[in-house]
Amino acid sequence: MTNKPGIHTKKQWEQIEVLGLLDARKIIDAFEPEKLLNGHTKPNRYVKGLAKPPIKFFINRKDSPVRNICEDFTTREEAIKMFDKLLWDSWHACDAMEEQARDWFEARKKEYLKGNNIDLICDCRRFRGNYEHIGLQYSNHPHDCHGYTLKKYIEFIAKESNK
Ligand SMILES: [Zn+2]
Repeated sequence: MTNKPGIHTKKQWEQIEVLGLLDARKIIDAFEPEKLLNGHTKPNRYVKGLAKPPIKFFINRKDSPVRNICEDFTTREEAIKMFDKLLWDSWHACDAMEEQARDWFEARKKEYLKGNNIDLICDCRRFRGNYEHIGLQYSNHPHDCHGYTLKKYIEFIAKESNK
């Protein structure tokens, strides 16, 4: 049996990814043959995206303005839901976001609009359990994280500013 190049499932990564502590983007697309001028074909292993490595943020550290503050008084699952409500229904809807958090989002928005890849890394899980859309399964790890609220919000304000 031979492994034909070019039939690997391509991994689809979004511009903003929410990662567990030990997750990493894997950006290697396996062997793609390259036609040389002399007619030979040479396997060419290239790594996509390395010219622009993702900018990493540890979103749940003590000094992060967007850490999940709800974690201090309830369970992990509840805290993630509460944070989502807090951000959309209070910070956003009532224009009640603290300056540090606002600055953080503004900076991420600019990076996002410039086309940077952004990794939001959270210590609430070691690995994330929702790689299904890219063909990997870690179903025994949690699917949720307050990072998805951050990702959605960055994408939202970026879209708003483009209007
Ligand atoms: Zn998290």
